[in-house]
Amino acid sequence: MPVTALKGVGVRNLERLKKVGVSTVQDVLFHLPLRYQDRTRITPMAVLQQGDQVVVEGVVESAEIRFGRRRSLLVLLTEGDASITLRFFYFSASQKAGLTPGVRLRCFGEVRKGPGSLEMVHPEYQRVNDAVEEQMEETLTPIYPTTEGLHQLSWRGMTEKALALLSVQPEALPDLLPVDLLNRYQLPELAAAVAYLHRPPPDASLEQLGEGGHPAQRRLAFEELLAHQLSLRELRRRQQQTPARPLHGNGNLRQQLLGALPFTLTGAQQRVAAEIGEDLKRDRPMMRLVQGDVGSGKTIVAALAATQALESEHQVALMAPTELLAEQHLRSFKGWMDSLGLEVAWLTGRHKGKTRRLILDSLAAGEKRFVVGTHALLQEDVAFQALGLVIIDEQHRFGVHQRMALREKSGVGGLVPHQLIMTATPIPRSLAMTAYADLDLSLIDELPPGRLPVSTVVIPDSRREEVIERVQAACREHRQAYWVCTLIEESEALQCQAAEDTAQQLSEALPDLRIALVHGRLKSAEKEAVMLGFQQGELDLLVSTTVIEVGVDVPNASLMIIENPERLGLAQLHQLRGRVGRGTKESHCVLMYHPPLSGSARERLGVMRDTRDGFVIARKDLELRGPGEVLGTRQTGEMQFRIADVVRDQQMLDDVRQAAELLLEHHENRVAPLMRRWIGQREQYINV
Ligand code: ADP
Ligand code: MG
Repeated sequence: MPVTALKGVGVRNLERLKKVGVSTVQDVLFHLPLRYQDRTRITPMAVLQQGDQVVVEGVVESAEIRFGRRRSLLVLLTEGDASITLRFFYFSASQKAGLTPGVRLRCFGEVRKGPGSLEMVHPEYQRVNDAVEEQMEETLTPIYPTTEGLHQLSWRGMTEKALALLSVQPEALPDLLPVDLLNRYQLPELAAAVAYLHRPPPDASLEQLGEGGHPAQRRLAFEELLAHQLSLRELRRRQQQTPARPLHGNGNLRQQLLGALPFTLTGAQQRVAAEIGEDLKRDRPMMRLVQGDVGSGKTIVAALAATQALESEHQVALMAPTELLAEQHLRSFKGWMDSLGLEVAWLTGRHKGKTRRLILDSLAAGEKRFVVGTHALLQEDVAFQALGLVIIDEQHRFGVHQRMALREKSGVGGLVPHQLIMTATPIPRSLAMTAYADLDLSLIDELPPGRLPVSTVVIPDSRREEVIERVQAACREHRQAYWVCTLIEESEALQCQAAEDTAQQLSEALPDLRIALVHGRLKSAEKEAVMLGFQQGELDLLVSTTVIEVGVDVPNASLMIIENPERLGLAQLHQLRGRVGRGTKESHCVLMYHPPLSGSARERLGVMRDTRDGFVIARKDLELRGPGEVLGTRQTGEMQFRIADVVRDQQMLDDVRQAAELLLEHHENRVAPLMRRWIGQREQYINV
């Protein structure tokens, strides 16, 4: 039912409503208040506290204009022995004239501490006469999120009408959850929940509503999460309908690779490698996400998967989110594949013209069987002869759409390649199963043996000299170090310039060290030369921007300085720090901040100092920044909810998954309407 079905909603409002995503009556009903005011009762003046938003009543004792820094009208209002000051900076002569001593006023506003007593600045007020005596609000007053030109009163009017309509025409918002589900999870009916949230009764708990913990709120969040869950399952179901190439392999390359490794796999690596191995043998596409903390050894697991595809005469594409990381993979995989007598192709946005043409031809003809690259692999003219496996590293940088684009490149026969996705952003299991309900999950929950924990210190940049000496001492002992510059400048050019300046200063301060610089603006070949030099121990100190954040692997580097870590999020800091502590030497990380620290920065740095567990850090990060940022899918809107909040509502995620099963089993007819109601316009992502 369009929103214009409500009386008084005209064309002019339509545009504005559209801005806040409202075009139907249902949208109005789901447009929930941000908070509430209590105008249902008069609060005795004697019990007022700073911060209260309340209605008070009293008698005007005096009203005078004060000429201070700002001219203001001060009205002293009393009730018995108690009093409060009303302060107006804007007022008219007639307004002042109306506020004569003895007049009785009812005011609504926020109580704050004034210079002498408690006061309200610009309260709403009215004279109390017999007519208003009895008029108090019957429900808490909703305050809606809004946009310019749409006032709270319009929202109240609209929701009032929508609720009235709902009470006579329940079909305007049918309850899509069957009664057995409501009972099982103790959820109120939809219409009742919606009515409650728009007009809570006077005894409703503002605190509970503020925290989103009221059953009415939980009911709506539950339904939304359920719809989301169902749509991801639907996505998965459709994927499973397309056939894929079974890749059995003969184990030859795999054995050779394992034999050439200087280490043995951890138990967790073996388990996950076996899970992947089984998936690849199926004639349905694997869609598996491997989560593992930084340094848990995801790359070799991916390489083993690759060998199985290669043994089965199929091609493999590995995609990384940054060029630097792709280069790093290129180096590791080249090392491994060389020993197996296989070539690795390389494709990034920098390959142009004839070079690019040659690479594309070799992939399309199946001459090159393994390619490593960046987003460039997604471009339309990239084709394969027989793509069997797609490996995506650091999944949180890619959205569902990009993940899906590679599927289309399967080559002949319309078969879909298997997909292996690796992420170093570990998130709590129930959240992972919600966010990635379209994927199977594997967890590498064990670090290779012999790793020593990275000890982390947090110090102010006034101790920079000391830190520089520390770098000197470490490098004298043939250790290597990273110096990471985090910069706030908007432009990449300025960032790189600042990193260059730092490198310059450090070179002057540490003349006997071999220092080099990497940042995003270096030519690919230059970057690669520097990284290779660092990896091979020809450099002591690597100064960089945060480009080295993901994936770079130099086990001999055991000291990392991060400048201005307060500017970064927890996940990013954890990734950066994960670059050290990869060898068998004890490693250190120095978080050198610029004082003063904000409260939340202090908290974040404290977490980094005290915690190494990627899961704990990720959970903290979720609390501090919310799921959109953490899961990195903000752009694609996958984890954007209207009402639910996966962090706040975490404890219901298991129930939601169970409810999805029940619904699919016993109430299939409710599934499509639920997805339509909540996913609606975002259909494209159901269809990818
Ligand atoms: P990440 O999971 O962060 O991508 P990598 O795959 O880069 O981690 O591995 C980190 C380092 O650990 C690499 O130097 C790799 O060779 C090494 N490594 C991986 N697995 C093992 C293992 N089982 N034993 C010892 N070292 C390992
Ligand atoms: Mg990695």
